[in-house]
Amino acid sequence: EVTILTLEISHLVGGYSQIPVLKDISFDVRDGELVGLIGLNGAGKSTTINHIIGLLTPQKGIIKINGVTIKDDNQSYKQQIAYIPEMPILYQELTLREHINLTIMAYGLDEKDAWQKADKLLKTFRLENKLDWFPANFSKGMKQKVMIVCAFVTDAPLMIIDEPFLGLDPLAVHDLLSLIEERKHEGASVLMSTHALDTAEKYCDRFVLLHDGQVKIEGSLAELQEALPGVGESLDDI
Ligand code: ATP
Repeated sequence: EVTILTLEISHLVGGYSQIPVLKDISFDVRDGELVGLIGLNGAGKSTTINHIIGLLTPQKGIIKINGVTIKDDNQSYKQQIAYIPEMPILYQELTLREHINLTIMAYGLDEKDAWQKADKLLKTFRLENKLDWFPANFSKGMKQKVMIVCAFVTDAPLMIIDEPFLGLDPLAVHDLLSLIEERKHEGASVLMSTHALDTAEKYCDRFVLLHDGQVKIEGSLAELQEALPGVGESLDDI
């Protein structure tokens, strides 16, 4: 059986200009896997994600997506990644409809298929009557829903989701988790950073625990708890 590695990070050293944050990060996300990226505030989760999506350039190490090393001078890998940021990124001057059209263009999607998907997603998140509204003015949770809709309109094989649960209502959390499950069954891989371990435990296949810019341990939540005795019911104690 061939295991496909959708995302491979080996010996990544990086951070913000002069400030090294990531000291040596190596881990993989396999085809069809949902991996939870966990760790205390400041452990380096968002910084790791910023390297994967190409916002930051590694000082050392390699990031591969479907076997291909990502490089600054070839941006095509970005179409392989659907990214849902913690803080929604929306354009002040674009309507919801225009945000979806922008996604369709950026990812080179078939317009008819993509809009079919979008209509369904908009209904799920109760945004179907807001196509002519400007989402930059929406509430935080509604903005997040717009980012979710746009991410799931793409058929990117790798989804990167940064702390999705803060600010989303329980119904939306449930709907997001169902969508993730669906994409996983279609073979997509998901890397999700979160502090919501109770929820994540039920859905994640594996966890990568970051501590001080390094991978401290990876495995199931039970394996993590076994390897780190003294850790309470919840990994929030680490
Ligand atoms: P959280 O759970 O709070 O989201 P995190 O694990 O995502 O935390 P990061 O945001 O990756 O942590 O932060 C890792 C380190 O990088 C922290 O020490 C932080 O101060 C530093 N850092 C984050 N953003 C910047 C930046 N733009 N410039 C310089 N340092 C930064």
